[in-house]
Amino acid sequence: MAHVGAVVVGAGVVGAAAARSLARAGLEVLAVDRFRQAGQGTTSRNSQVIHAGLYYPDGSLKARFCAASAARLYKFAESRHIPHWNCQKLVVAAEGQEERLKTVAEHARSIGCLQKENMRMLSRHDLKVLEPDLVASAAILSPGTGVICAHSVVSALLAEAEASGADFSFGSDVEDVSWDGNAFTLTFSDGFKVTCDKLINAAGLHAGQLAETFVEPRLLPKFRFCKGNYFRPTVPVPFQRLIYPLPPPSGAGLGTHLTLDVEGGGAKFGPDTEWLPDDYAPVKDMDGSGVYNVDASRAASFEESIQCWWPSLPSGSLAPDYSGLRVKVPSGDFEITSHGMEGYCGLYGIESPGLTSSLMIADQVLRVLGVPIPAEAQEDELERPPPGTRCFSDGLRTLLQGEASESVLEALKQRREEVRKDVEAAAVRWGQAADARLRSACAEPVPSFPGRLSSAAALLEEHRAATGGALKGVFDRLQGFQRLLARRRCLEDIVSMVKKTDAVREAVFACRPAEELPVAEMAEVVTLCSRLPSRSRAVGVKRARFLTEPLRSALSQALLSALRETGTWPKEPGTSVQPGGDAREKVLRLCRRLSQLQESARDLRQLEGSELSPAEDSVSWPCQALATPLVARFRHHFCRPDSELCRTDKPEWAFRYLVEMASDHATELEGWLAQLRAEDCRSMVAGLVAALATEGRRFVAGRLRALSEDEVAKPWLLQTLHQLVRFHSALVGLGGTAAAQALMADFDGNVLLAPGEPSEEPGDSPSEPAQRGALAEGDLQGLHSPL
Ligand SMILES: Cc1cc2nc3c(=O)[nH]c(=O)nc-3n(C[C@H](O)[C@H](O)[C@H](O)COP(=O)(O)OP(=O)(O)OC[C@H]3O[C@@H](n4cnc5c(N)ncnc54)[C@H](O)[C@@H]3O)c2cc1C
Repeated sequence: MAHVGAVVVGAGVVGAAAARSLARAGLEVLAVDRFRQAGQGTTSRNSQVIHAGLYYPDGSLKARFCAASAARLYKFAESRHIPHWNCQKLVVAAEGQEERLKTVAEHARSIGCLQKENMRMLSRHDLKVLEPDLVASAAILSPGTGVICAHSVVSALLAEAEASGADFSFGSDVEDVSWDGNAFTLTFSDGFKVTCDKLINAAGLHAGQLAETFVEPRLLPKFRFCKGNYFRPTVPVPFQRLIYPLPPPSGAGLGTHLTLDVEGGGAKFGPDTEWLPDDYAPVKDMDGSGVYNVDASRAASFEESIQCWWPSLPSGSLAPDYSGLRVKVPSGDFEITSHGMEGYCGLYGIESPGLTSSLMIADQVLRVLGVPIPAEAQEDELERPPPGTRCFSDGLRTLLQGEASESVLEALKQRREEVRKDVEAAAVRWGQAADARLRSACAEPVPSFPGRLSSAAALLEEHRAATGGALKGVFDRLQGFQRLLARRRCLEDIVSMVKKTDAVREAVFACRPAEELPVAEMAEVVTLCSRLPSRSRAVGVKRARFLTEPLRSALSQALLSALRETGTWPKEPGTSVQPGGDAREKVLRLCRRLSQLQESARDLRQLEGSELSPAEDSVSWPCQALATPLVARFRHHFCRPDSELCRTDKPEWAFRYLVEMASDHATELEGWLAQLRAEDCRSMVAGLVAALATEGRRFVAGRLRALSEDEVAKPWLLQTLHQLVRFHSALVGLGGTAAAQALMADFDGNVLLAPGEPSEEPGDSPSEPAQRGALAEGDLQGLHSPL
């Protein structure tokens, strides 16, 4: 019978982490799993969140492991290029739940999370800035929470375990275990047996069932199972952080929360809590049993719970996604124990945060087995194993089944050593041969690979032409190398793009001062994206576009504050240009940054292949922001139903006001530009007039339907159009063709005049949607008519 030092049953994230730690500690390790691949159990059916560990009871393993493990997992992911995203989390309290939120925060403080993670409480106002679509009265911000690709974690652990000598055997189903007080005997479903000194039961949902075959029943906890369902929104989700409501008082689950996909763009809701019957027992073929099917009728309760904090989630916009099972034990904690059996480590109740805690759980396995733990820092800073590390798992299986000899493992190890040496020797031989061929082929000695690879290839190409293809073999290999190098360069570009967008996102969501916002970096992101192949480029562009709006909004808000500081914007009629001031310089600096950002946004659109309409494209972002306070003033006088100036019969009042405002502020702006010698900002005067022309267009569009459909108001239609023409020539004089285009965009394009969307309070947000808010139909009823 074959004998191994240690067998790990289960190659989920926990089994893979344990196998890696044991192999690194020098043990002979065989990890087995009944699936054909690693990580196909609960590891592939969770939220992929790196938890900060806010809720767990003081002194519990979950509390101890979660916080420490999260930091390690980030480091692990960083050094292995595993997709992850430290997107942060908000735990939100609805109206009336503030006391419960405080209790959660106090608990987090008492177990050291608040301090460690630099968590903080946010007010309703803070939340409006961070997540404008979120409705909550307060929240805890957990900066350390993030998401990670669980599959990549498992693959990295597996590769490193193998590099340290562990073997994996997939498609191997352990049916029974016996213990003779000294060694364990494992019987597989095909009758094959293996003995081992140490046994690690990391069988996840099945750990209890496996333990029942050899552990005294009274020592085992009672296992219960709880299903967690996920739903995916069919509409875009406007949040940038994970959103968690307060956990239900029952303590089961964390409440129906929002999780973002690690590669940006996607989102899902869940898991909820669906207890399975007390006597439920997991079966071997979990997928085939139908237990993971998601009942579409649960969407209603999801909707209800989500709408508490995201009321604008449209009804009927959730689609069933996947589900997972949590295994629960009465203590509610991880139970990692030997039951007093030397050499055994059973892992029970490994539910959330099992993924986050996997590296610490692996350490605990070593502790329970009495194996010294390799120094953590060394361990996680180790280089990635070289690509191409071979996996012998299938070979092991075949050999074990075919020969069932005790010396098989020994032979296998030797074979692996031999193959490794062969491959290395062949690589060195080939390198020397290629070098020698190159040296003799080229007139001058060629430096070694790969620095001068392209020039060497060029020389070879010449030589090949001269010698009639005698060196074809070598040349083809070099071409292969070149392709590999190109691929590596491409991968490096992808990594740089991801890092750069992550850095920008961190800066944006850390609410840095506007002057420190990484606008120039966005241009670098565009350049990086443009170098990527099309699929990766699409991902890069999506990531970058996701950042443009919050950046624009932060810069525009800062610009509005700087404008207020100038004290002359909006300018009172008849006042003259005041002497300089830092505020004006700041305004111009912010305008330049906004222009630069708009440039990047345009480039991103081009990369994406989507076109802007000429009207959209002609709007300059800095000018839109400059026009915001002016537009607010205009709307206050001319679009408010209870304003005396809001009259159908006097469109010329509104037009005149706009012209005067455009002229006054154009002069004011020109004064600033001359004073600050800001030659590069000249086009802003025309842009400002164009922005006010756009407001004129919206003003007319908002009234046209009422004027044309209402018999009583019809006489004023002609007058409005007549005044529009006069307004047009006045504006062309001030702002040139840009203003004319902006004013006539709808009319020239023969665009149907739809009734305006409900008007937002101008000035709330300087971004396009707020300004797009033309006049509501209701506003028309308030127009003062002389009739
Ligand atoms: C809905 C849900 C959401 C979650 N969200 C998170 C989260 O956001 N963050 C977090 O940190 N944690 C989360 N978790 C917890 C986390 O997913 C688990 O703790 C973790 O994946 C457990 O890993 P594991 O290796 O113990 O189990 P598994 O991944 O299930 O691996 C066990 C393996 O054992 C194998 N096996 C079983 N019996 C046998 C046998 N007899 N012979 C051979 N092989 C066998 C199985 O095939 C399986 O591959 C969540 C869990 C659920 C259910």
